[in-house]
Amino acid sequence: MKYEPAVDMNNPQSMMTYDVVVIGGGPSGATAAHQLAGLGCSVLLLDRRGRIKPCGGAIPPRLIRDFQIPDELLVSRIYSARMVAPSNRKVDIPIENGYVGMVDRAAFDEWLRQRAAAAGAEYRIGTFERITRDTDGVAVIHFRSAESLDQAQRDVHENGAENSASIRVRARSVIGADGAKSLLARQTVKGAERMKFVFAYHEIVRSPVVDQADFVATRCDVIYRGALSPDFYSWIFPHGATTSVGTGSARKGFSMRASVTALRAASGLGEVETLRREGAPIPLKPLGRWDNGRDVVLAGDAAGVVAPASGEGIYYAMLGGQLAAEAVHAFLQSGNPAALKLARKRFMREHGTVFWVLGIMQRFWYTSEGRRERFVSICRDPDVQKLTFDSYMNKKLERKKPMAHVRIFFKDLAHLFGVVRA
Ligand SMILES: Cc1cc2nc3c(=O)[nH]c(=O)nc-3n(C[C@H](O)[C@H](O)[C@H](O)COP(=O)(O)OP(=O)(O)OC[C@H]3O[C@@H](n4cnc5c(N)ncnc54)[C@H](O)[C@@H]3O)c2cc1C
Repeated sequence: MKYEPAVDMNNPQSMMTYDVVVIGGGPSGATAAHQLAGLGCSVLLLDRRGRIKPCGGAIPPRLIRDFQIPDELLVSRIYSARMVAPSNRKVDIPIENGYVGMVDRAAFDEWLRQRAAAAGAEYRIGTFERITRDTDGVAVIHFRSAESLDQAQRDVHENGAENSASIRVRARSVIGADGAKSLLARQTVKGAERMKFVFAYHEIVRSPVVDQADFVATRCDVIYRGALSPDFYSWIFPHGATTSVGTGSARKGFSMRASVTALRAASGLGEVETLRREGAPIPLKPLGRWDNGRDVVLAGDAAGVVAPASGEGIYYAMLGGQLAAEAVHAFLQSGNPAALKLARKRFMREHGTVFWVLGIMQRFWYTSEGRRERFVSICRDPDVQKLTFDSYMNKKLERKKPMAHVRIFFKDLAHLFGVVRA
């Protein structure tokens, strides 16, 4: 593939053609751009400026290993998780042989984008607007640069209407990595507009200087209480100098702000400085289709790829970006759009079962106070703790101990039917 130098992109006669335009420079898009640039493709990575992605920032060791994340990006390391039941009963789970890394998304995402640029991707700040077709059928991506958005704002202010045109480039293929509620997905992939979400809201607060009974800088708290979240969970995730205190819910009318205020007060974080208040949707289920059968493939939140029950999305977004890059590369080499399906196929083969099980868990355990109480109770079992952490940390189930799985299965059933009291 030949890399064509940039020309005047406002002049349609000299529209630049890229092998791939990646829309969105979060973990999925930046990973896809990095990989494709490394394979010698001409890549435009577009990311709109401004907003830091609202996120707890917890990443597993598998991600750190697979995607070569340097130590300096970890703002803290977490060595235990504490599950809190509705009765306030607490189960501390030490993380054996490792830690969960915490990243600051502003620095982490920018580092990933710069790595893609260093590998040869053209990284531009720009806001995707729409996709159309050129006379030869090749995709045309319309976007606004930061300057043209500023100009449009000035136009509206001064003349009541905007005059500045959007920039257009041609793309042999397009990766949609523009997050939950992806604009590109809704314009190109059937069914994307029906994606379902949990809404997550958190407050970034200044971390207490010294540990307290309810705040330990190296421990994540996961709180299961209906008043704080009627259908998901709440959390306290320390990030070194700052801490994310948040909650999730899909229930309309539930006040997440009031919930976080209550959680902060209950955990001794009511009076610490609030640095940001923000929220964002978390997709509940991978889409049934990730491609348009022609030249577009989705990755990460745009494809609905966040683990149910936990809301973990960064690792899956980066893996999704990698798989989208491989699928696009195969498509560019063969010209066969069926290659784009490889992204979803490979992802679901590796993680489909776990997503399915987690989806059932969320629908079952997160729906009543009694079930939440039992769920935390189950987490006292050392086998459950080991299994949970092995699968979170390494994204693999331990196959060496089949009897432990059988035992957990029967214990779960006993809890499910109330044979074992919480
Ligand atoms: C409150 C909250 C807490 C979370 N905590 C965790 C956690 O602790 N650990 C974890 O693993 N996951 C967590 N998640 C999930 C995780 O944040 C996402 O799954 C992950 O960020 C998905 O990555 P992505 O690259 O697909 O999308 P995003 O990170 O959303 O990136 C999309 C990118 O596209 C850009 N973009 C969007 N629209 C356009 C456009 N029109 N033009 C150009 N660019 C555009 C955005 O600027 C952004 O950079 C959390 C989510 C929320 C909401």
